[in-house]
Amino acid sequence: MCSKFIKLILQLPSFFEIALPSEEEPNIFRVDIAPQSIACPNCQGRTVCHDRALRRFRHGCAWHIGVLWIELFVPRQRCKNCGFTFTFDYGLGLVHSSTESFRREITKRCHGRSIADVARDYALPYTTVERLNAGFTRMHPNN
Ligand SMILES: [Zn+2]
Repeated sequence: MCSKFIKLILQLPSFFEIALPSEEEPNIFRVDIAPQSIACPNCQGRTVCHDRALRRFRHGCAWHIGVLWIELFVPRQRCKNCGFTFTFDYGLGLVHSSTESFRREITKRCHGRSIADVARDYALPYTTVERLNAGFTRMHPNN
């Protein structure tokens, strides 16, 4: 698989550099993101990265592979103007260990199907699918 193809499947922002997965973990895609200026959500001031954590998030699914994970450094930013600190998620909607696009996909699959069926398809624990489904419905009541 070439990385362009992977990018297409994973539907990630264009400034994400996606590495090929290792043989040991073929469903984990390491994402490298070039440093960029991140504006403070409070005052639009300049922020600096004062901490970052390497984390994995469920992001998609593929036949015969199962859940696809992305691994990236999630930055903690501090505003130089107002001192506000926040986690920047690049618009991925990172909650617990999944991206918004993953939660949306699971919710879509749950329409007209039992949670147990979806859990089996994705090799996910029943309670995880239940939580993802409930969480997404709660956040987006009109969907
Ligand atoms: Zn600020």
